[in-house]
Amino acid sequence: MRKLRLLLGDQLNLAHSWFEETNENTIYLMAEMRQETDYVKHHIQKVVAFFLSMRHFATDLKAKGHQVSYFQITAENNPQDLEKLIAICIEKHQIEKFEYQLPDEYRLDLQLKTIASQLKIPAEASDTEHFYTTRNELENFFEGKKLLLMENFYRNMRKKHHVLMDGSTPVGNQWNFDHDNRKKYKGEIPVPTEKNFHKNITEILHEIKLSGIQTFGNIKENDFSWPTSRAESLVVLDYFCTHLLQHFGDYEDAMHTDEKFLFHSRLSFAMNTKMLSPKEVIETVIAHYHNNEAQISISQVEGFVRQILGWREYIRGIYWKEMPDYAQLNALNNHNNLPDFFWTGKTKMNCMQHAITQSLDEAYAHHIQRLMVIGNFTLLTQIHPDQVDAWYLGVYIDAIEWVEMPNTRGMSQYADGGIIATKPYVSSGSYINKMSNNCSKCHYNVKEKLGEKACPFNSLYWNFLDEKKDYFKGNQRMSMMLNLLQKIKPEDLFLIKTKAQEIIANLDGY
Ligand code: FAD
Ligand code: SF4
Repeated sequence: MRKLRLLLGDQLNLAHSWFEETNENTIYLMAEMRQETDYVKHHIQKVVAFFLSMRHFATDLKAKGHQVSYFQITAENNPQDLEKLIAICIEKHQIEKFEYQLPDEYRLDLQLKTIASQLKIPAEASDTEHFYTTRNELENFFEGKKLLLMENFYRNMRKKHHVLMDGSTPVGNQWNFDHDNRKKYKGEIPVPTEKNFHKNITEILHEIKLSGIQTFGNIKENDFSWPTSRAESLVVLDYFCTHLLQHFGDYEDAMHTDEKFLFHSRLSFAMNTKMLSPKEVIETVIAHYHNNEAQISISQVEGFVRQILGWREYIRGIYWKEMPDYAQLNALNNHNNLPDFFWTGKTKMNCMQHAITQSLDEAYAHHIQRLMVIGNFTLLTQIHPDQVDAWYLGVYIDAIEWVEMPNTRGMSQYADGGIIATKPYVSSGSYINKMSNNCSKCHYNVKEKLGEKACPFNSLYWNFLDEKKDYFKGNQRMSMMLNLLQKIKPEDLFLIKTKAQEIIANLDGY
């Protein structure tokens, strides 16, 4: 039977059972398409990384003897329309069956279901064989429960998949070493330079320009750092194990103006495109730990495993449980506009300037920059979650809706009303000061709430709590913050709120 098998840009899993055997009657279809580059404005590095990875993947498939029909972005015969493309290929190759792997995004899932249902030949969808969990596994796990606590899900995953377990006991006699993972980085341990492939990308940049795709962000033609093949992804994984894992947990939440990546793995793009599987990443890291237990403590390894076996799978489960309604949620009724400096990095707030400039330069910021600097700021200034989502979805190299949206709209903006986070991740400048060196070099004074030099995060924080106090009054985890708010004298609160409103009215002036 002649089959057409569609592969999307984030379905680059060479270990998939589809590829176990070669068959000249099976055609693999891959296409660089405007519908994928244009549904939101993307960072230029993201578009380059996806196209290069797809091209490498097609080359790898061909080298294994598979038949690949590949449509580059500038190809004249690329119809730039998924439905038309599939129809053209079916006719050209006299296809008798259409197959695709289940997309991770709701948008594409719906589109492919519709296309498949309208074909005149049989169609079948298979699993991507990438995640530990199926789409609905989280929903089944939490059935009948009010609180969808990540920690409960994570412990179950550890047991179910025998990850870092000693029989029924967690290795190190503790499930979670979160409390050990909060060191401030003061330069005491040199951070190895990030693994960079220094690729020349002149040609693909030219094609992207020619095709008219609108992008933003910065890129260096001779210095492209991201892994765009499975072989390169394995190099980044090995680099992480050898050079970074030893300190990963300790400095997981730290920020430093001289260190963009600290001890983070930069593996999210390789995993989200499925060039690496989460299982092989976790198994490689644990094997490395066992071979080097004298140098690497369990808290580093558990911290890392929790992100992938816990958070990553949990976030995906929430996405499939809650979509499509999730994309509309705005529980705190926030409606302000994202300031222009999100596209330029031009602000006097040192923490924001660093986090945003880095995002524009590298298409990357690590978790705490995304959550406690940028996300904290957009929540405190009450930006509409649609705008925040669109920015995050566009700017980060690893941003695919299934993982971006629950993290941004849910965890960071509390727009889901607490499905993911039990309380909003908001803080005044003091948290940023505790976890980074940003404040010592800032135009603003982190200790002040009022006055020209006062750190904007301070008045914004109290203003946010006051504006949302009715919403949060039944939330136990907010009671300490709200009690502190109550202790502020009304006349002082009035001044703080006036200051905050002044900032919100003129975000680009700060
Ligand atoms: P490391 O710090 O080295 O962590 C290892 C791996 O753990 C990551 O590669 C990632 O696969 C996984 N991981 C860690 N935290 C999470 C999490 N909260 N959710 C899912 N996986 C996690 N991650 C994305 O992959 N795509 C996104 O679009 C994305 N958007 C985010 C938006 C916000 C507001 C926040 C707070 C977090 C977001 N994250 C997202 C999660 C996290 O910030 C990134 O996975 C991480 O920064 C990627 O860098 P790394 O590979 O160096 O991660
Ligand atoms: Fe950010 Fe405020 Fe610190 Fe400046 S003083 S770096 S604005 S937290």
